[in-house]
Amino acid sequence: MFGIRKRLATDDHIEEYVRQLKDLEQRFDAYAQVIRTLLTHLKDFSMDISDIDGEGFRNALDRFGEQFFEQTSAKRINRTFNRHKSSVAAYIDHQKAYLEERDRELRNIIDLLTRAMASINSENDAYHRQILEKGEQIEQITRLDDIRKIKSALEREVQSLRSTVEAKQADEQIRIASLSKRVATLKAELQSAKEESIRDGLTGVYNRRAFDEQIKALMDPNDVQRGRFSILLLDIDDFKCINDTYGHPIGDRVILALADVCRQMIRSDDFLARYGGEEFVILLPGASRRNAVKKAHQLCKTIAQTRYTLEDDDPPTLSLTVSIGVTARERRDDAEALIARVDKALYQAKQEGKNRAFAL
Ligand code: GH3
Ligand code: MG
Ligand code: MG
Repeated sequence: MFGIRKRLATDDHIEEYVRQLKDLEQRFDAYAQVIRTLLTHLKDFSMDISDIDGEGFRNALDRFGEQFFEQTSAKRINRTFNRHKSSVAAYIDHQKAYLEERDRELRNIIDLLTRAMASINSENDAYHRQILEKGEQIEQITRLDDIRKIKSALEREVQSLRSTVEAKQADEQIRIASLSKRVATLKAELQSAKEESIRDGLTGVYNRRAFDEQIKALMDPNDVQRGRFSILLLDIDDFKCINDTYGHPIGDRVILALADVCRQMIRSDDFLARYGGEEFVILLPGASRRNAVKKAHQLCKTIAQTRYTLEDDDPPTLSLTVSIGVTARERRDDAEALIARVDKALYQAKQEGKNRAFAL
């Protein structure tokens, strides 16, 4: 009786142990499943970033999993876990710090890009619009959570920004080229306007204004190079008669022809100007009074000997003479005194019968 009861009691215990063992096995399987899942999540959590050796971390997790499930004693399992626990925590902190740092850098880059775009100071509306749109797109990028998406989106935006800047530069080059051309044209126009303002319209020689400037410069008491020079004042004889006989247009052509003769007979550094209607003035730098008189005689002679045709096929019949006043600049002279003297000399030449030079 006693023996049977004891046997029964032991059988019950064995059944209970078996049941508990099964229960433990099931729990172990469940824990193992949980641990595997957590390890997988942990691996997924680690980012594929070479700077923080994500791959090394995932390999370490694989080793940890293998070692963890190989161990049979609780003591060893504990030891394995403790060994890996701190390195997992350290990796998580490291990754977090890395991401925060990258986040700061990205914000700096975005800030820089935004300021760069703002500094593209364009008057062109199309560019303004494009730049504003880019600013909005970059703002949207900052809202992306995934660093990889941010990176590729930023790369795209930078590329597109670069194209915008290049297009703008090309456009500016064209504008600069066209402005340079315009500036060159304006400079040429200004130069020719300046040139025109000192030239006589009919003959192309210097006008009265240019002569006044020239004589002022030559008489400038501050000019250290104040040198010797002489002046000739030419006036066509009886020009009224030429006008009356042949008409005003022929009179104009005579004035032009006289300018040509004078031009041909003077040196390149001499200064020829139309002083008035049928009057010309010539400045002869470096010339003495004597040399100036010589030149005046040559002019009178050449002009008097020249014959002009009235019509293209006609023989040259028209002739003219000039009277010339001559004087040389004297030490005490100012411009007015000099001009008054040469005018007086011209008057004398007329008085003495015209077609001649008279020097004072
Ligand atoms: P003189 O020998 O005393 O100098 O006689 P002149 O007839 O030449 O004298 P005056 O100075 O009295 O006359 C000059 C004339 O020149 C008067 C004017 O009508 C004419 N004249 C002035 N300018 C021009 C011009 O540009 N073209 C033409 N055709 N005639 C002009
Ligand atoms: Mg006159
Ligand atoms: Mg005259």
